[in-house]
Formats: sequence, structure tokens, C-alpha cells
Amino acid sequence: MTTNKKADTIDFTKARLVSTYNELAKHLADSDDIISRLTRRLQTTLDIKHIVNMFVEEVGKLIDFDQFEYSCETAGSYITSEKRSAHSCNYKLKLENDDLGEVSLTRSKKFKEEELAILERLMGTLVFPLKNALMYKRALDAALQDSLTGCGNKRALDTALARETELSRRHNHPLSVITIDIDYFKNINDQYGHAAGDNILKQLVECMTNSARKSDLCFRCGGEEFIVLLNKTNEVGAKIIAERLRLAVSKTRFVHGDKIIPLTISLGTATFIHDEKLESLLERSDKALYEAKNAGRNRVVSAESPIRQNMTNGETNHLTA
Ligand code: GH3
Ligand code: MG
Ligand code: MG
Repeated sequence: MTTNKKADTIDFTKARLVSTYNELAKHLADSDDIISRLTRRLQTTLDIKHIVNMFVEEVGKLIDFDQFEYSCETAGSYITSEKRSAHSCNYKLKLENDDLGEVSLTRSKKFKEEELAILERLMGTLVFPLKNALMYKRALDAALQDSLTGCGNKRALDTALARETELSRRHNHPLSVITIDIDYFKNINDQYGHAAGDNILKQLVECMTNSARKSDLCFRCGGEEFIVLLNKTNEVGAKIIAERLRLAVSKTRFVHGDKIIPLTISLGTATFIHDEKLESLLERSDKALYEAKNAGRNRVVSAESPIRQNMTNGETNHLTA
């Protein structure tokens, strides 16, 4: 435990969680009911946020605090209030060499020893369910991740597309997609070997992720084909971002061992029309990519909206009247 200092690490594999001090024994006995209830409650879910909420509720029955924060690389950060007071106690949770994140409580009064002993006891109840929930979250994340490049896979793309098109319709935000395919990738495999090809795919995702905005989501939807989802982005914005990606890739020095491998990509963009089907959006973007390939590769082509296409074909004259 520390007050206003760096977090202590508690390794719950080794911790002695029952105090030998008489003074503490009564407080710990008072917390028995809460501990057995918390133990039962924590067994009912694998949802990390739910687990943290239950923990906060039960801790709050024994210890006053202004702010509770739990943060962890796998799960992000949960915070109960923005109010940060002068005194804090911080714990790094660890179990069997597994880093389970960090818990921090703050308030205006210093934390008493007996309160910290109770908190440590409650954390002893928290760590096993938390470890299970983190393992479950990691497994879920892995199922949506492309194992070679670390970006989203086809399954993740389907989920994200359904969500983003729904949000786009509901809030009337523009939504665009970029479909990307590496130029002459087969030649790279043939010339430098499959391992080099794999290595390039990883570097390409890194390059595109660094060149896109944080909110742009990148997915590998086939061997050397990618889709970037651009929320709140109209046709003009999509074209700008696609051009930025194209330029970044063409300027990057992709390496495999001591070899520098030049690489370009072709890109098709399409912007979602609220009454079109998902398949239609992807088809239009794919068709634009195909046109970029045919036009010589290493370029961006934007799909025309179906309304404009129909108007050109003379099928929607009533719209222009
Ligand atoms: P184009 O410019 O027309 O797209 O030419 P291309 O050679 O990229 O296209 P094509 O579809 O003919 O070839 C794609 C190649 O991508 C074929 C396959 O060997 C390679 N590829 C697909 N997935 C992987 C992968 O996971 N690793 C590696 N190393 N190569 C892959
Ligand atoms: Mg291809
Ligand atoms: Mg290709």
C-alpha cells in the first residue's frame, strides 16, 4: 500500500490475506458477509465492467472514497468519477505472473491501515474472477483478429460494418469504405519467398495504421486485401484518406532481411447511401478498386453513387425535374 506514491504490486499467488493483528481482526470479521456476497456475485459474470462495478459497490459499503479507477491493457479504463482527491492508494494486481491491471482509490482523508487491510482482502476475492474475465476477453479479441497482421479479420469487419451502417443511418453521419489490394503481390512472393510476403503484409498494416486516423478501422478481408472503414467521412474525405494511404505506402521502405522491397497499393472508395444494402456498398468499392487496377495500379478510384449512376443512365429523370 502507498499513500500518494507509486502503486505497490500485490502478487495474490503469494499474499497472506488474513491479518494476524487483533485490532484488524474485528474489521475483517465485519467484512466477512460482504466478502462472501462479493464472491458469489463475482461468479455470475465474465464481463469485466460488470465485475468492476460489483467490486466498487461492495467496497463502497466498507470504505469511503471519492474516486475508484481500474485500468488494464486488455480492458481499458473504468473510472467512477472525475473527482480526484489528495490521498490515494494504488495496487498493481498480479496473479501467477499475469498482470491483471491497476486499482486506485482516492479521497480527501488519509486511508487507515484497517481500511487498507479490508481493501486488500476484497481484492483477494476479486483477482480470480478478474483473471477469468480477462482471459475470456483476450479470447474474444483474438477471435476477431487477423493472426498475422493483428488488424481485424473478416468476422470483425462484418460486425463493424453492421454497427457503423446502423449508426450512420440513425445519426445521419456519412460513412465511407476503402477497399485496398496490393499491386503485383504474387511477384513479391515469387521473387523473395512467402515469408517475405508475410513480413510485408505485417509492415503494410503498420504503415496504413500509422497513416490513417485513430477512428479509422482496418480489416484484412482476404489474402492481400484490406478494407478501411471511415466513419463520419464523406466522399471527398474518403478520397483524401485513400490518397494519403497510397502515398504513404509508395514512400515506405518495406524490408525483408537486407532487402528493400518496393510496394504499391490500389484503392477503391465508396460512400454509404442510407437505403442501399451492405453488399451494394462493398460491391461499389470493389468495382472502383478494379478500375484502379485496370487504369494502371498505384491509384485511387472513387465509386459513383448509384443515384448519380442511374441519373447518367437516364433512369431517374424525376429526381432532376
Ligand atoms: P494485382 O496487382 O492484380 O492485384 O496482382 P497480384 O499479384 O497482387 O494479384 P493476385 O490475386 O494474382 O495474387 C495475390 C497473391 O497474394 C497470391 C498469393 O500468393 C498472395 N497471398 C495471399 N495471401 C497471402 C499471405 O497470407 N501471405 C503471402 N505471403 N502471400 C499471400
Ligand atoms: Mg487480390
Ligand atoms: Mg493484388
